[in-house]
Amino acid sequence: MTDLTRRKLLASSASVVAGAALASSSTANAQEATSKTGSGTQPSPAIIQGWPDVLVIGGGAFGAWSALSLLEKGAKVKLIDAYGVGNARQTSGDETRQIRTAYGEDEIYSRWAIKSFQMWHERQEEFGRGMIYPNGVLSANEPEDKLKVELDIFNRLNVPHEVLSHDELVKRWPQGRWDDVEYALYEPEAGTVKARESLIAVSEVFKSKGGDIAIASARPGASSGGQLSSVALTEGDDISAGSYLFACGPWLGDVFPELLGGYIRLRRSEVYYVGSPPGDASYSYREFPNMWEPHAGAYAMSDIDYGFKVVPRYSIGIDPSEDDRVPSSFLMLKVYDYLRLRVPGLVNQPIVASRVCALESSNNHHYIIDRHPGFENVYVAGAGSGHAFKMGPMLGEYISDRMLGLGDDPYLADLFAISTHAPHA
Ligand SMILES: Cc1cc2nc3c(=O)[nH]c(=O)nc-3n(C[C@H](O)[C@H](O)[C@H](O)COP(=O)(O)OP(=O)(O)OC[C@H]3O[C@@H](n4cnc5c(N)ncnc54)[C@H](O)[C@@H]3O)c2cc1C
Repeated sequence: MTDLTRRKLLASSASVVAGAALASSSTANAQEATSKTGSGTQPSPAIIQGWPDVLVIGGGAFGAWSALSLLEKGAKVKLIDAYGVGNARQTSGDETRQIRTAYGEDEIYSRWAIKSFQMWHERQEEFGRGMIYPNGVLSANEPEDKLKVELDIFNRLNVPHEVLSHDELVKRWPQGRWDDVEYALYEPEAGTVKARESLIAVSEVFKSKGGDIAIASARPGASSGGQLSSVALTEGDDISAGSYLFACGPWLGDVFPELLGGYIRLRRSEVYYVGSPPGDASYSYREFPNMWEPHAGAYAMSDIDYGFKVVPRYSIGIDPSEDDRVPSSFLMLKVYDYLRLRVPGLVNQPIVASRVCALESSNNHHYIIDRHPGFENVYVAGAGSGHAFKMGPMLGEYISDRMLGLGDDPYLADLFAISTHAPHA
């Protein structure tokens, strides 16, 4: 898109006027200079200088979806990632992630999950490629008070669900072992999203719609008058933009140590894919549900095309840049403990793939999405706390609206504010 076309777009679209305002806020002096000319509709300084309106740093679930949404709302966007979208170090870079609606008493996330799920369906249609799989999700033996709250929310939000007895579980999924399960909440329309592949699809669509993508590692650079003027790349260059979104996942605290040091706890999380017996579809997404049961020492997701996924509970730190991503032998034993408990038909099958992920969490499991208190033109977004991937389309929508000045729900702004979080004890 030429600058001329963009200027026309900026002049004609209310949403993008907000984008231009955001872009121009990045250089207060320049803005003052342009407005002093008194010449009606002024292009933003970012346009004058050929900069992107928004530079997104980090191409995970937060950054890639935000970049696409910002672009679709008319901003000129550049997305950079230190290792590339879908890389093996990013938290979003695993094969799959789960979409479920049950969130205990956090109704806001149930609402977001419902909207996001709808958006995943629409995007899947638009992108012309399979991204979501409706395996259904079973939450086994949840405490009764938590279950009651979730059922109330499900009824209020019309989420399809059933509470299944032990006998019903045995009848529906005889390939599972249910000895220890008294009851389970079943969400038949919940399921799995292809993680890495869908992010690559997002980045491809972003590029095809005019977005610019590069591999580069950035830190906040020069600033003046409460505005960030540029980011400094590890390779030595600078990039300037109207505004900046830092969506750096596990690295976010490190990029802003004074602001977020201690706010994002990193834990190593190992994910294993167990092969099905040849020709046996009993554990595929068509035949077996995902299992959400952290109290059982692990949770599991049925086989889409990569293996039956088992994630043992485990807690140890990780350096997201430097550590090898090689699975631990003692956790492999835990995988087989879980298989013996829930799907004995897989006990003699090999682990066919694995991933080691960095799990980044806030102190209160709420995301951090906020304007940097020191820079008017900088937003930070992250602390997915183990539940942000499914929300990708909603995160993009929400963050782009906030950055473009198109909307800002006070409840959400408060929930995601840095000030309502604290460093981990
Ligand atoms: C094992 C596991 C299971 C999970 N299961 C689920 C689930 O079932 N459902 C769900 O919804 N969520 C789940 N999550 C959470 C979800 O995966 C994360 O919340 C989400 O992927 C985080 O996305 P992100 O964009 O914040 O970070 P990332 O995906 O890590 O992306 C950040 C990107 O920023 C880049 N970057 C960092 N620093 C810089 C820099 N200085 N310059 C340039 N680039 C930089 C990195 O290279 C990286 O690509 C799970 C997480 C884990 C670990």
